[in-house]
Amino acid sequence: MSENRLPGEKVATIEEYLPGDNTFEDGDAIRSASVGTVELNKTEQLVSIQNKKSPMVPKIGDIIVGTVEANLGSMMAVSIKYINGVENESNIECICTIRHLRKKNAALVKDVVKLKIINHVNGTIHAGIDEHDLGVLYTKCRKCFGKVVKVRDAVKCSECGWIDDRKLSSDFEQADFLKFDEIK
Ligand SMILES: [Zn+2]
Repeated sequence: MSENRLPGEKVATIEEYLPGDNTFEDGDAIRSASVGTVELNKTEQLVSIQNKKSPMVPKIGDIIVGTVEANLGSMMAVSIKYINGVENESNIECICTIRHLRKKNAALVKDVVKLKIINHVNGTIHAGIDEHDLGVLYTKCRKCFGKVVKVRDAVKCSECGWIDDRKLSSDFEQADFLKFDEIK
């Protein structure tokens, strides 16, 4: 069991195991919240993801900027690139619930988002997106990957005209210190 798991990947079911470090529950599934290898603790029935690096962990209340690695509809996994404006290279992930936003495309995979850390549960970092300044900082058109502009609380593609919903940050279009293509 040494292959690497990606954020959002199913690692077990709740019938088999309890969620341990770097995992989260999603319906009947236990999914990885981080890049790492699966570790099964049969005694305690725990499934964890072992993260090789010992990353710098953001604290509750910290503002992070990261890229969306997986969007499961009800929640998304975000790879943290900045903590309180300081670049972070450990690629630690956090989970953000988006079900309540009632937006079909609150954020797309690869979008750059700004979130606030709300708690740590079982070694998984949970972040919120609800506040005005939180949400998508950078996104592209879902149809043609063209450049989009803000139209009220949605975005419109300046190439093909497609209009799409996002949970936009009030900093959207102002965060030009972030050049998407430089974030890998
Ligand atoms: Zn387009």
